[in-house]
Amino acid sequence: MRKHFILIFCVVYLCILCSCGMVKKEIPSVTLTPINCEWGYHNFIVFGDDAYYILCGGLIARWDGEVDHQAIPICKKPDCSHDQPECCAFVNMEYPHRKMFYLDGSLYLFGRAQEDSVTKSHGFPMWKVAADGSSKEIAFFASDFPNMYTVLGDVAYYDFCQEDENGKLITTLWAQPLQGGEETLIWKSELQNGGLDMIQGINGQLYFSEYGVDQSIDLENIDTGFDNVQREYNLYTYQPETGEVKRDSLFQKEDGSIAVIWNFFDGDWYYSYNTTEENVMWRRPEEGSGDAVCLGKMPKYVNAADPLYMYSGWWVDRETKSGEVSVYDYNQNLIQRIQFPMEDTFEWLPATEDYVFGYYEKPINEEARIEKSVILLERDKLADGAAEMITLIQR
Ligand SMILES: [Zn+2]
Repeated sequence: MRKHFILIFCVVYLCILCSCGMVKKEIPSVTLTPINCEWGYHNFIVFGDDAYYILCGGLIARWDGEVDHQAIPICKKPDCSHDQPECCAFVNMEYPHRKMFYLDGSLYLFGRAQEDSVTKSHGFPMWKVAADGSSKEIAFFASDFPNMYTVLGDVAYYDFCQEDENGKLITTLWAQPLQGGEETLIWKSELQNGGLDMIQGINGQLYFSEYGVDQSIDLENIDTGFDNVQREYNLYTYQPETGEVKRDSLFQKEDGSIAVIWNFFDGDWYYSYNTTEENVMWRRPEEGSGDAVCLGKMPKYVNAADPLYMYSGWWVDRETKSGEVSVYDYNQNLIQRIQFPMEDTFEWLPATEDYVFGYYEKPINEEARIEKSVILLERDKLADGAAEMITLIQR
């Protein structure tokens, strides 16, 4: 009898445990190295300890991971419009930044230039915003416009494009601790008129790729025109412990062409070569231990990829004034075409196993403003071509 009682107790206890597990959705334990590649300027969804944090038009909102719940601004002040400097959930941002990072209960993001109240110099503030919306302060200033940036460990890395003493536009990469300190130069490009198109910390190492033109070319006096000048591409790694910057040949082909990196997802790189006739997506493990696998030909206008799908950029139907984006598998099958009201921009962020996120802008002419939205698609519904855009926040 006693044995039966213990057995029944265990079954009931297990049922309670299981049902608790179903109620609380598990959030991926990813903080500093989001599994999307920080290609471009967007990193508008990050994972905190207990939630997702979403950046939409300078507003920071918290989302609990339930698709039928909206994201809620982290500011808890009643009647706040969340668009004034005093609001803890709002950072006035410089176009085209749409990035933030989570570390130890705080969100870090660069804001619009302002005067440093201590040094009286003009700089770009790195804001430190408490994820619970209780405080907002300036962590440090970057001395010039940080074009691309990322956070690795407790250090921010960002690049400037500045004119040197010979009048050439040169890209430099800088580091500064999040708690403030020295702005330190860690790399200077050997190219001109270029920039970074990717920067991301992965497993303790900083990866960044650059494009640009050979410095020996006199761009002022070329006959062929700037468009005909061959651009160069390089991928670098930086070791924070040793301070060593190395040109990385992991993705370099024999003809010297360098990969365009689309994503770093679940330990694998996704990349293509823009110099080949047929644009093909490749995948290889991070460590370089495994061989590269050819995934298939890329449809036109792909601008994001993950292990399952490739996502096209937006296209506008001039008559209906609606935009559309398409999702393809690696056999070039069209999985789903999705229409939405927009005229301007759409960016994908294939960030988790469950969801693909998107950001888009729509001009509201009557009010002379641009409405910004962060949406998601459920990846399992994409498989049936039945995913719908779910708006998490609109502003
Ligand atoms: Zn507010």
